[in-house]
Amino acid sequence: CKIDYQAPADLLQGRNILVTGAGDGIGRAAALTFARHGATVILLGRTIAKLEKVYDEIEAAGGPQPAIFPLNFEGATLKDYHDMAETIDREFGRLDGLLHNAGLLGRITPFEQYNPELWEQVMQVNLNGPIWMTQALLPALKYSADASIVFTSSSVGRRGRAYWGAYAVSKFATEGFVEVLADELEHLGNVRVNSLNPGATRTQMRKTAYPGEDPATLRTPEEIMPTYLWLMGPDSRGHNGEKFDAQPPRS
Ligand code: NDP
Repeated sequence: CKIDYQAPADLLQGRNILVTGAGDGIGRAAALTFARHGATVILLGRTIAKLEKVYDEIEAAGGPQPAIFPLNFEGATLKDYHDMAETIDREFGRLDGLLHNAGLLGRITPFEQYNPELWEQVMQVNLNGPIWMTQALLPALKYSADASIVFTSSSVGRRGRAYWGAYAVSKFATEGFVEVLADELEHLGNVRVNSLNPGATRTQMRKTAYPGEDPATLRTPEEIMPTYLWLMGPDSRGHNGEKFDAQPPRS
């Protein structure tokens, strides 16, 4: 946990970083924070109006001009990921950071009642879509002198909990995939991949999962950004295949 990490203002200067689910919640905060630290951010998400708002905020703050990439992981095809890779190659030449943040909660419900279609949807958005997107983007990441891939996990991706169904399974699988890919990338030296558990954070997803909770007791997305910055910047070089937490566990 690097919650006390103090990032220099120019930490991400000159880096091209793609953030999925950049229109809301933690992804929105990450996109704004990366841009404030000098990164050119590629805002990926399914609701264009939200991405445009983030775009405008970055421009208004004088950050490097971002780019918008509309994509819905439900229904996205391999061709979409390869078109994306081609666009990034053409417009930016390389990718230095990839934050897999988009996520779908599905339903908190007993497994006996879990709808199989919903299960597929959650696995698509949280696991399979991001995996095939990563495959398409690997060449652009390899062009970078120092590339960081971050997958978003969860505490239920480390210890299963009743009723969390596909969401928990998708996060366990995400952590497993990170270990496999990290082992394959190790010899390259210039591309690392790690998983990050944001911990309880004040967003719409958290509110849906815990409707009775007082959001004021939770850290905001902005407050958990130090670990995101550390993982995206050069200070985390050499860390590969590891699991991180963005905040200390709650007592
Ligand atoms: P939010 O629900 O606030 O944001 C999720 C983001 O993912 C939104 O931008 C959403 O887009 C996007 N998204 C959802 N489905 C799709 C899709 N099919 N295609 C493309 N984009 C999609 O969630 P959080 O910010 O809380 O969560 C961010 C990540 O952190 C997730 O991976 C989540 O699992 C993880 N996490 C969060 C915790 C928390 O306490 N908040 C705790 C542990 C893990 P749109 O706005 O258009 O719907």
